Amino acid sequence: MREADLVVIGGGPAGLCAAISAAESGARVLVIERNKVLGGQLVKQTHMFFGSEKQYASDRGIDIAGMLLNKLGCFNNVEILTETTVVGMYEDGVISVLHKEDVYYKIKPKAVVVSTGAFEKALAFPNNDLPGIYGAGAVQTLMNVHGVKPGDKVLMVGAGNIGLIVSYQLIQAGVEVAAILDAAPRIGGYLVHASKIRRMGVPILTSHTVKEAIGKDFVEKAIVSQVDEKFRPIAGTEKEFDVDVICISVGLTPLNELLSMRGCQMKYVPQLSGFVPIRDENYETTVEYVFAAGDATGVEEASAAMVEGYLAGLCAASKIGCTPDDFDERKSDYVKQLNDLRSGPVSRHILSGIEQIVI
Ligand SMILES: Cc1cc2nc3c(=O)[nH]c(=O)nc-3n(C[C@H](O)[C@H](O)[C@H](O)COP(=O)(O)OP(=O)(O)OC[C@H]3O[C@@H](n4cnc5c(N)ncnc54)[C@H](O)[C@@H]3O)c2cc1C
Repeated sequence: MREADLVVIGGGPAGLCAAISAAESGARVLVIERNKVLGGQLVKQTHMFFGSEKQYASDRGIDIAGMLLNKLGCFNNVEILTETTVVGMYEDGVISVLHKEDVYYKIKPKAVVVSTGAFEKALAFPNNDLPGIYGAGAVQTLMNVHGVKPGDKVLMVGAGNIGLIVSYQLIQAGVEVAAILDAAPRIGGYLVHASKIRRMGVPILTSHTVKEAIGKDFVEKAIVSQVDEKFRPIAGTEKEFDVDVICISVGLTPLNELLSMRGCQMKYVPQLSGFVPIRDENYETTVEYVFAAGDATGVEEASAAMVEGYLAGLCAASKIGCTPDDFDERKSDYVKQLNDLRSGPVSRHILSGIEQIVI
């Protein structure tokens, strides 16, 4: 059994910032990431971020990951394990990890920050398992990480920010986007993204959904139809699109089964996109010494995930005896940054979700 001070699970923006903040406070930190590279979702994001300067607005996601890694590299009290997945968190505080799918061992940390992010929601429709049907994250990974075009002609399902941004990136990569659908009567993403896409001639069909995929060995067609106010397909409104890719971008769900396994109290909060941990203002869950940050505590944005990470890392380090002299100033600065980020009208629903889980 290996001992550790603070273990950060997940090396996305929330986890990297938690590690930086805890290391700055003097804690010995072990970051565990299942992928080969750190950065989480950021490594596939080639677009410039919105938000405020403190959270790298106008920088590209991939560059933000690089900047956070440079910061982390300045500390000699941080150890990083990549290609290592945390597979269990147990009542006695032990966590179990699997390295490269064959080396299994246990770690007993004094405290943990769980920053495991979120996973993509799927859609149920006939033939939704045909090759050529991808989640938007997979399409981004193919194009932006591996330089592979997913196909020639795409139907995008979901007009939230992710659907709109990925559609734009597909067009930049030389892929035709036949249309963007959304079952909701309004476009969910920022209008600046939607206008850009519309100017490029891509129709955005609200109150529409994909009814069926057609194809033998791969997608050849998509049948879409209009939906009524209860999201039921309206017979007779079907249209066909000749496409070889259907990209599903209908939202994310917090990935936090490790917290449930550990016994943290969870609550279903639609505004935060799924089951999330009940926590205090320090991001400590109902299980002492277990903290959480980022999309795992509710799907939001990288900007909020980073600040939550800084705050959770600071408080987790303090909990195990590493309290810096400027603890109060740092904490109130992070709280203020989060309040500023959530001050716009778009964040009202997030705040109404957070109200339900903070004790
Ligand atoms: C297309 C797209 C565009 C976006 N644009 C913006 C934008 O413009 N501005 C913005 O602020 N946000 C944007 N976001 C949102 C942003 O990317 C996320 O909110 C952010 O990445 C969440 O950070 P996180 O650290 O919580 O999770 P993630 O970035 O998902 O990182 C979680 C990490 O944990 C690892 N992990 C999971 N489980 C385990 C385990 N058991 N063991 C070890 N490691 C594990 C994962 O591999 C991953 O690296 C966008 C998202 C997408 C998909």
